[in-house]
Amino acid sequence: MTTPMSITQVFAPGHETVLRVEDRASGLIGFIAVHSTTLGPAAGGLRMRPYETEADAIEDVLRLSRGMTYKNAAAGLPLGGGKAVIMGDPKLLKTPALLHAFARAINTLEGRYWTAEDMGMTPTDMATLAEVTQYVAGLPNGEFASGDPSPITARGIFQSIQTTARHRFGDADLTGKTVAVQGLGHVGAHLCDMLHNAGAKLIVADIDEARVAKAVATYNAIAADPVGILGAEADILAPCAIGAILNEATIATLKVAAVCGGANNQLATEEDGARLHTRGILYAPDFVANAGGIINVATEILSIQDRAAFVDEKLATLDETLTQILTRAKQRDRSPNDVATEIVDEKLVPKAA
Ligand code: NAD
Repeated sequence: MTTPMSITQVFAPGHETVLRVEDRASGLIGFIAVHSTTLGPAAGGLRMRPYETEADAIEDVLRLSRGMTYKNAAAGLPLGGGKAVIMGDPKLLKTPALLHAFARAINTLEGRYWTAEDMGMTPTDMATLAEVTQYVAGLPNGEFASGDPSPITARGIFQSIQTTARHRFGDADLTGKTVAVQGLGHVGAHLCDMLHNAGAKLIVADIDEARVAKAVATYNAIAADPVGILGAEADILAPCAIGAILNEATIATLKVAAVCGGANNQLATEEDGARLHTRGILYAPDFVANAGGIINVATEILSIQDRAAFVDEKLATLDETLTQILTRAKQRDRSPNDVATEIVDEKLVPKAA
């Protein structure tokens, strides 16, 4: 006889619902965090990683789900914030039975949480989840399948760089401006293309040397090493690789006037937003600059017929949000990151009747 799946509530102040899911038959232990459904059903990806402890997995899912509330709200999407994690090495533990069990847990939330792809997951895995639950996006095919989000993510970053330039230099024109791009993957490559076409000069770095060589050949870019790029002399730094690269040590070495890129969680700590501000470096909050990806996924969750029009409209909303953030930050002499959190908090307070 198989043991039934166990779903229990985890106490997490500030979150609406956090579930611990265990299915002994498939080896599943995971968590689903619904941070907020104030603006709509909570949406955010499913991550599978070999977390060392359940406490580590809970910490990650709480942080990430809260981040999704802010990202979705900044883009003006009718979606709240949520996230899910599964403990374990995806290469060893990911099976259809495990994914089906997790999908059954998603169903218990009756549409209050929608999942999608994140680290350790693929579009094929999303299709496996979809055999059991309808609350899944990032499918490889189907009427509303939204495909690779990175071109839209890059568009959002590019327009955010223009807006950041307008606030920092008084002009959104990037002709002759130097942008240092760390990370030339899905997002970084599209971004370099747009920056080059806009007349910007590029300094590039990646741990993958072939990607650097390609950018040097295609855009006449200057190559830097993956860490050294953080100290490169440029107008704008665009982090498009990994998180936590803006910390006490690196901020002291930056030689740029602004930072705007696509990597998630660029600030190592909340204080690093203030550190950038103190140094006079204008920081476009990452969860605003990189929200193009979730805008793309939202077309699938919301079954949008005219995707192009929806993406255009929400990217415009995102730009308005960034403009509001940078304007208020300047008026009040505060870090844009703190102001961004404040502005989204205002959107999350239900309007008085
Ligand atoms: P990717 O894996 O396609 O590309 C990342 C690139 O960074 C790779 O070329 C990799 O070699 C390079 N890299 C890794 N470590 C590095 C280091 N220490 N120094 C320099 N380069 C390094 O990923 P992506 O989809 O382009 O995403 C990039 C970042 O943007 C990630 O932080 C991701 O979470 C974030 N993001 C992506 C999307 C999207 O639509 N893909 C949406 C929102 C946020």
